[in-house]
Amino acid sequence: MRKVRYAVQGLFLFLFIFMSIKHQIYRGTVLKTPPLDSYCPFGGIETAYLYITSGTFVDRVGYSNFIMLFGLIIIGVLLKSGFCGWICPFGTVQEWLGNLGKKLFNNKKFIPESIDRYGRFIKYPLFVLIIIATIVSGRMIFRDYDPFIAFFHMGFGERPWTAYLAMIIVLVGSLFIIRFWCRYFCPLAVIVGLIGKLGLYKIECDNEKCVSCGKCEKLCPMDIKIAKMGRINTVECNSCLDCLEAKDLKDAISLKAPKNGKRLIPAFYPVILLVIFFGVIYGSKSLGIWKVGRGPGGQGKGLGAAGRNSRVAQRNAENLNFSILTQKSDSLKVLAEPKKSSEEKKECDEVRKGLRKVAEETAQGEERTIKIGNTELVIRGNVSLAQIEQMTGVPASYLISKLKLPPNVSRNINIGNLKKTYGFVMQDLRKCIREYFEKHKK
Ligand code: SF4
Ligand code: SF4
Repeated sequence: MRKVRYAVQGLFLFLFIFMSIKHQIYRGTVLKTPPLDSYCPFGGIETAYLYITSGTFVDRVGYSNFIMLFGLIIIGVLLKSGFCGWICPFGTVQEWLGNLGKKLFNNKKFIPESIDRYGRFIKYPLFVLIIIATIVSGRMIFRDYDPFIAFFHMGFGERPWTAYLAMIIVLVGSLFIIRFWCRYFCPLAVIVGLIGKLGLYKIECDNEKCVSCGKCEKLCPMDIKIAKMGRINTVECNSCLDCLEAKDLKDAISLKAPKNGKRLIPAFYPVILLVIFFGVIYGSKSLGIWKVGRGPGGQGKGLGAAGRNSRVAQRNAENLNFSILTQKSDSLKVLAEPKKSSEEKKECDEVRKGLRKVAEETAQGEERTIKIGNTELVIRGNVSLAQIEQMTGVPASYLISKLKLPPNVSRNINIGNLKKTYGFVMQDLRKCIREYFEKHKK
């Protein structure tokens, strides 16, 4: 079973590295190379508050993150923490480094048990802190410190030094303490572990058959006291199933459902796991609900020839949509308002919405950035007028008057919400900012 798990881990690690390199080279959604952030279930947790309160997402996050979170929940309630033990590529990197460390240092333990036990609580306040900071700032603030992102950037692009420092600490730390990040810091481990507590199938040690030889505990990468615990309900167990490898003890340790005491044949575990994981992704794609988030300024940069061609094709498609919409707009006389039946009004609204969307989408790309001196800024829908004032120096009052917003409108509501309420598009906002700079250059 261990070999099967290494093969599954290797598959996911390869897929992640492949997708990461492809994204770094081609970028954008055009060649179906979204950033790895799109596949992170934690993104769904980070953006949940913003989505519930305003219907918008933090940077780089989209519906795909909710779908991944959904997959993780299904896996969790059936198979406990299989996501960590079998799928997460960063867990794999740490585990394999830890295995190397074990060989290099002859299984030496580098951390006293008491410190290890309490150290594992660090991830809980860290989780809360990250969520609060994301809600307050409206952006993925933890990205700048995230060793996972730094590692999977594979040396491409610029990441803050803080992320690289965290990555080096985690990789070196993993040589000495297996799954160093998972044990003490990973915020996603909190969610995986807590959902896993509901898990149907868990490792169970039958105390009547257990001879307390400690073989299973030696195999456990998370140093869990299996024999003492009986049924393994701790968040620390990542469901790797390595303990089942303990020779001659297969009968004492098993993967069991508590209610009916039925055992799951271990060979079925990876099959069910993979079916759920890929089933959720491909199912949502075929239903058309898989939509990835956009990174600030990421798309359109660094496109190769194939990418440029695809972008032209995309633009043509947009133009086609646009021309269909404008034709329809003419025939419905969308702009000449009076006396329409409620049906016609509804249709006009749809067309208006479509036109606005196309206008906005075509405005993205090269025009999404605003140059201030030598700095290129990306203004997105998740910032507020007050934040724009802070970033660019353009007074919020100037934007309010130019965009014809009510003078008393809150400067702290994000632009995404203002757009929906007052019907302007990002292009208008960026135009106002550019005009302000033009005016103040003279
Ligand atoms: S604890 Fe975090 S880093 Fe470790 S395997 Fe789970 S999700 Fe991945
Ligand atoms: S208890 Fe068993 S399944 Fe859980 S982490 Fe340890 S070895 Fe893996």
